[in-house]
Formats: sequence, C-alpha cells, structure tokens
Amino acid sequence: MKALLLKEYMKLELVEMPEPDVGADDVLVRVQACGICGSDVHGLDGSTGRRLPPIVMGHEAAGVVARLGGQVKDLKEGDRVTFDSTVWCGVCHYCRRGQANLCDHRQVLGVSPGEYRRHGAFAEYVAVPRRIVYPLPEGLSFERAAMVEALSVAVHAVGITPVRLGDTAVVVGSGMIGLLVIQALKRAGCGRVIAADIDEARLKLAREVGADDALDPRTADVPALARQATGGRGADVAFEVVGATEPLATAAKSLRKGGALTMVGNLSPQVELPLQWVVTREVRLQGSCASAGEYPVCLELMARGEVKVDPLISAVAPLEEGAAWFDRLYRREPGLMKVVLRP
Ligand SMILES: [Zn+2]
Ligand SMILES: [Zn+2]
Repeated sequence: MKALLLKEYMKLELVEMPEPDVGADDVLVRVQACGICGSDVHGLDGSTGRRLPPIVMGHEAAGVVARLGGQVKDLKEGDRVTFDSTVWCGVCHYCRRGQANLCDHRQVLGVSPGEYRRHGAFAEYVAVPRRIVYPLPEGLSFERAAMVEALSVAVHAVGITPVRLGDTAVVVGSGMIGLLVIQALKRAGCGRVIAADIDEARLKLAREVGADDALDPRTADVPALARQATGGRGADVAFEVVGATEPLATAAKSLRKGGALTMVGNLSPQVELPLQWVVTREVRLQGSCASAGEYPVCLELMARGEVKVDPLISAVAPLEEGAAWFDRLYRREPGLMKVVLRP
C-alpha cells in the first residue's frame, strides 16, 4: 500500500509499505480521508519527541471497512466508519469507569513516543481494534467525519463544564478547537458567547460559526465586556484553548465569582496563574483532555448540520501532496486551518 512515511525529521515521503496485520479483534479500514492535526505538524521536527521516525502519522480519519478480523461480527465490508484517535485498553481502572481518555495504556494512532509505534492513517489502509470504530451516519462525508476527533475534544470540554441554559461564556483562543467549543456551547444552550483571539481571520471565523462577540484581547478588554454582558458579574464559564499565561489570565478574569474555567489548551508545560483572583472568587479550574465516548453524538451533530465544520476545512488534497501541505502548515501559512488528505 501507499503510505506517507516520516522517514526522518522534516522528511516525509510517499512510500510502498506492507498492508497492516489484521488481528482477530481488528478492522482493516481503507482510508478515505485523514486530517493533518497540529500535533502531526509539531511531530515533523521532533520537537515533541512523540513521533520517532520511521512513523506513518495521522489519527483523524474515516474510511470504508476493507476486511474484518475473525472475532468481529457486527460490521461488514464496505461499511463507512471512523475511529477514535486513541486506542484505549478497555480493561484498566479508568476505562472501566468510562474515562477512556485517561486509560493507563492509551496509544495514539500514528505516534511513536518510544514505548510503542503505531502506524497511522496517512496510508491506504490502517488496522484498528473494533472497540474504537464507529459507523458513520448516512450523508456524512468522509472529509467531515475526519473532523470528529477535533469536535469530540470540544464537546468533551463543554460536557465536563457546568453550563446552564442562557449562560454567558468566554472562549479564549479561536483556533480549530476553540471554534468548535463556541459551537458546542451554543448547542449546549449558552446565551452569549464571547470569543477572543489575536488573529483577525480567526475572529471572523468565530463570528461565522456563532460567537456573539469576537475580540482581540490585545486591543479590547475581554473581561470588561464579559462583565458588561452580565450586569457587572462576569461570565459563568470560560474556556482557555491556547495554553499560555496571558490567555489563561484573560479567561480567569472574565469569570464571575463562582464561575468555572475549563482548560483545554496545553501549549506551554507551565503557566502563571492569577492565584488570588481564582481563590478569593472561588473559581473552579478544570483540565480537559481528549474525549471519552463523545464520538457518536459528534457524528450526529455534524450529520444534522448542527455543528459546522466546513468553514474549518481549508483544503482537501491527495495523499501524494501530503509532504507539501505539511510544509505549508509547518511554515504557519496564514489562514490555513484543517487540511484533509485523501489516500
Ligand atoms: Zn488530532
Ligand atoms: Zn484503559
């Protein structure tokens, strides 16, 4: 099969590789679409240490069932499917509590951090365990389905936040996940959603997908607007979707007393926190990692058009052009959001 292999750092090459082995509980998927994740782009230069070459990256994919392992009885060849980006074990303490995102043995597809190497979906075929496979709703394209991982991260973050009907929310960071958090908050019943980002194009997208206000925190006072929108109190909930000191402070300071801050961004390993503000106002801090069981609802939300992912897909290109698109993403070409490759 054809595969886009990271041969060495900064060197992606389309190569011939043997098809993956299909275990008894596995499903062999003929990949139809696979999105390039920010983490794949960071994987290119080895800075994260999570993609030791040689590795076929890619974990945001959808395709068609090509072959089934002997134990898989409830799918058939030709079924349209997507799969979790993470292979969770299903038997550890956390998996049994329904927290597969915290699995003790989780392996991300298309990642090779040293302890394991699991080739991903920038290839014609990928083999994944049945337990992480989800059938696609009718009418949902492969390209949109490939956005399910990103959406599931947003829906999970909103799901573990105490959002109530009519709440005012602040979302700091309007990249891919932030734009999906905005939409999930609207679906969850939020009244006013205030988005913040330092990139004008992203702010425009934020308005397009439903943010009531979209501001640059360098020139506008986001906490002041949040107070103004809530009779002087501040937002009920806030989301930090960057992972740095300043956005975190903006999010925290936008909250009312007793408000909840959910932290999704994790760019920096360490940040400064406005501690006294958080403690004396009894702000609740919540980390949010990946997703745990949100795929089916996310697929439905996209199929029904309740969450719009098309504005976030910048390009759909053949796998052959993969290396060039990686390069453009790596050089941070302005205006590029999700690029989906088609093997
Ligand atoms: Zn991803
Ligand atoms: Zn587990």
